[in-house]
Amino acid sequence: MRSKLISLFAILFLLCGCTEDGAEKKQTQEQNQNHPDTKIITTDKIEDIEAEFERADENTLVVFDCDGVLTTISWDRAKSNRQTILVNKKMPQLVDELQQREIKTVVLTALSAKASKKLQNPIKWRIETLKSLGYHFEKSFPSLENCWLPMPNNQPDSAYDQGVICCGRTRKDDSLKAFLGYASCHPSKIIFIDDSIRNIQHVEAFCKERRVVFVGIEYTEEKKLMERGE
Ligand SMILES: [Mg+2]
Repeated sequence: MRSKLISLFAILFLLCGCTEDGAEKKQTQEQNQNHPDTKIITTDKIEDIEAEFERADENTLVVFDCDGVLTTISWDRAKSNRQTILVNKKMPQLVDELQQREIKTVVLTALSAKASKKLQNPIKWRIETLKSLGYHFEKSFPSLENCWLPMPNNQPDSAYDQGVICCGRTRKDDSLKAFLGYASCHPSKIIFIDDSIRNIQHVEAFCKERRVVFVGIEYTEEKKLMERGE
């Protein structure tokens, strides 16, 4: 009888130990899953962006804002002429190098894809402007057709064409989420370069929710150029 009781206590002790150990392990796993690697840096140097690109692999998606990151506007006051130019002359080469390494690249711009008096087809205009400056985002998803991205409220607002996502009034994280579903793209890491910290924080929150490693780069070179009057 006594030996049976001792055995029973021993089994109970072992069971409690295992359960506690298991619970601890589960908690650690949950903590890791709830807090994947995310970081945000602020820089006006393209070399810092280049360094992050070097750490990318074929499971990384690199997302670029357009205005203030890929391109900016130059005003010729004498001729009242506005011209779209590169923020940094090296950027088309960096995009090309990513594509050569089979790393997916996409543009996420706040531009509306809806026709207006000024632009009949804004997304086509943006694609052509980017091509004229040496950017070829159409290389990333060559077989993906242009479409209005499916939105939860069924309102056609965000559109995709040739590597360019136009968000319109939709937040960038929501447009990106819709695009990833449409493209069946499941990156393990997203690098997002934007000149708006708010957009970066929105995409960071989305990546945390999806447990995707996130590097946000608040790129301030355009602001620096403007301060210098260039
Ligand atoms: Mg911008």
